[in-house]
Amino acid sequence: MSRPIPFRRDLTFDYGVVDEVAPGLRRVIARNPSDFTFHGTGTYIIGHGNVAVIDPGPALDTHVDAVAEALAGDTVTHILVTHTHIDHSPASRPLQALVGGAIYGYGPHGAGKIEAGVQVEEGGDMDFVPDVEVRHGDVIEGDGWSMECVYTPGHTSNHICYAWRETGSLFPGDQVMGWSTTIVSPPDGDMGDYLASLRHLLERDDKRYWPTHGTSIDDPKAFVRALIAHREERAGQVMAALTAGAGTIAAMVPGIYGGDVPEHMFPAAARSVFATMIMLVNDGRVACDGDLAVDARYRPA
Ligand SMILES: [Zn+2]
Repeated sequence: MSRPIPFRRDLTFDYGVVDEVAPGLRRVIARNPSDFTFHGTGTYIIGHGNVAVIDPGPALDTHVDAVAEALAGDTVTHILVTHTHIDHSPASRPLQALVGGAIYGYGPHGAGKIEAGVQVEEGGDMDFVPDVEVRHGDVIEGDGWSMECVYTPGHTSNHICYAWRETGSLFPGDQVMGWSTTIVSPPDGDMGDYLASLRHLLERDDKRYWPTHGTSIDDPKAFVRALIAHREERAGQVMAALTAGAGTIAAMVPGIYGGDVPEHMFPAAARSVFATMIMLVNDGRVACDGDLAVDARYRPA
């Protein structure tokens, strides 16, 4: 086993109650806990006076109201969206209707893949359209803050991290989570892209991460290195299972994940192995008999 990822699960908070987690940084957590969201979606507010909101969250009236209440006395100039999963972007328009602000994001769900000619599955927030499309390297200027857009496809093809330049902090959305590994589910999710995005983050010098799910990550480089090692170890486990004669993803999931995740999470784990398998096929290490699919037969190339 590689070194364990230093996950933290010691988050203290109350749903719907705004919390100043750092100078000029507030957070409200939505009541949408799940196996994928930990306690729920953390919506961030940047600055005081003229402010930005990052990831308004799920379509939950109680959460939209709580965020709007936290913003009483502020003017919202920007709403920044990291990506279009249903726990991140659907509250953008309802929140905008209450507090204003222009909505920024890479594009609709699947945008990064659709541009490359790949059809993506239903799922995610299919209604999302930003007011302003951003691209890698764009800088969004606010009143006393500025955010650099860091394009990080992999979890979704339209995932953007926002680097808060005045503080050296980064909002990594779901690219890096404080409490668990990230789901990478094809076709919109792409393990090769995801690993490339992690390596890209490693080249940066962000001092602290504020993920959407979980508490801050105060040693980001060590954390990202551990995430990369974990994914490489998983790829090694998949290769070993194939070499040992497991020809299908279903046959190898219990052996790879049995000790780590409960059985009801095996379908999600299978999507993750599928993402790894596609990467290995693209790298020429694995061959697939027929079309790439979660239930296809695979062998070492
Ligand atoms: Zn997500």
